[in-house]
Formats: sequence, structure tokens, C-alpha cells
Amino acid sequence: MTNPHHDADLVALLSWYRAMGADEALADTAIDWLARGDAAPGRDFRLAPPSAAAPPPARSRPPPPQPAVARSAVVERPFATLPPEAAMMGARTAARAAGSLAELGATLAQFDGCGLKATAKNLCFYRGAARSRLMLIGEAPGRDEDLEGKPFVGRAGQLLDKMLSAIALSEQDVHITNIVYWRPPGNRTPTPQEAQVCRPFLERQIELVAPDVIALLGGAAAKQVFDVSEGIMRLRGKVRDLVIGTHAAKAIATLHPAYLLRTPAAKRLAWRDLIAIKTLLES
Ligand code: URA
Repeated sequence: MTNPHHDADLVALLSWYRAMGADEALADTAIDWLARGDAAPGRDFRLAPPSAAAPPPARSRPPPPQPAVARSAVVERPFATLPPEAAMMGARTAARAAGSLAELGATLAQFDGCGLKATAKNLCFYRGAARSRLMLIGEAPGRDEDLEGKPFVGRAGQLLDKMLSAIALSEQDVHITNIVYWRPPGNRTPTPQEAQVCRPFLERQIELVAPDVIALLGGAAAKQVFDVSEGIMRLRGKVRDLVIGTHAAKAIATLHPAYLLRTPAAKRLAWRDLIAIKTLLES
């Protein structure tokens, strides 16, 4: 028999999860992280069968025998995150060795130094042209991007495409990526450490794409690339000279398309930034 209060509580709990960005199950079985001691998720991470994650609840009767498929149905992704210094060193060495974007993508796919990889479904490297005069850098892949393995393909990406077409640019004219290459769980902002460990790859990507103009979409991307702590409202709209590795470019921060979806009144500021980007491309 169902308990309507209990059901209402469950619905409220699910709505809260959804509002917090937890909109998808990563495995068929829940993981009790607290039962794993105080090790941070991501260190020696392994999606293990439930028996390894938590002791089974007390039962009055012995459990029924498990069908042979039950265990193999559990998603198991062995993944050991390197300590931060080793991950950074590994990222720098691996990124520098990549002689082309294809090689950089293959290197990223092998790279295990970013804990975000453990919970993401796909690597999101870039979309658009391999070499381009305009490179756009966002914060992190979201749910749609994680499923497709490409940056900015969800609602924010559709708005971004419309903004670009307003200055007569299409996907073939631009190179679009993020400061991290895997979706953070629940769409949270990547931590500085996650962004730092991806940074050597982003720097090499910039060198290989060789853009004349770099547009940073939103505060997280602007802070990470400019290495500053001001908010996006202070950072946006100002043209800077940026040197990344061996490459020099003009850079400008603007508002994130996801923010513009929530705050349409801010579109007039983004429009000014777009005009500035177009002017930079024409100069
Ligand atoms: N938001 C981002 O910052 N990047 C994406 O790829 C999608 C949404």
C-alpha cells in the first residue's frame, strides 16, 4: 500500500535533486560515498558493485540467489585519479607532445589526471573549425554536451549559434571549446584544480587553432584564462592582449549564453561585446 505523505516526500526530494542539477543516474546502483571513509571522490575512484560500497542491510531472510547478469549490469569504470602535481606534470608533457588537434584529442582521451572524467559519459573536445580566427571558450560541458561529446550543443549552444549568425559567422568559421573537457557532476562549476589540470591542453589547443581573437564566455572561463578574480560584469567588454604559450591574440570576455537565457535583459551588453568581437576580426 502506498503512503501519500511518503510519496509526496519522494517527489519533493526528486524535485530538489533536479533543481540542484542531479538530473540523471550515473549507474544502476546508488553509491554510498560516506561508507568509503574520508577519501575524496575522484581519488582512486572506482564505480564498484554495491557489495564493495556498503555493507548489505540486515535481512530476516537470506537474499535470493542473484542472476548471473546482475553483476555485469553494474557500470564499472576503473579510474584512478593521479595526485594533483603528478596530474599537472602529466598534462603538460602530454599536451606539449601533441603536434595536431587530432593528436591532442587522442591524448586527452587517454588522460586520467582530471577527476571529472570518472563521472562523465564522453570527452567534449571542440566543435567547429580546426583552425579559426575566432576561438570561443566556455565553462564546462553540460548534460547535452556530455551525451553528444561536443561543446555547446544544448540550449545555451543554440543561443550561441544565433549570436554568431548575427555577426555573420557559422560553426565553420569558429572553434568552440571549454576550460574543462568533461561534464562536472550536476553541472557544478569546475573547481580551480580541475581547470588547472586541463589548462595545458587548452593552451596547446590555442596554439594549434592559432586564433586572432579569443572570446571567453562567462566568469569561470574569463577568470581561468585571464588568471584574475574579478566578476564577469567587471571583466566583460574589455579587449586585452593575451599571450598563451607561443601564441598571441586579442581576448575579450562576454556574458555566458546560459546567463542570457535566464536574464534576457543582459542581451544588450552581450550585443555590444559581439560588435567588439566583429570589429576585432575586421581589423
Ligand atoms: N555551457 C558551457 O559553458 N559549455 C558548454 O559546452 C555548454 C554549456
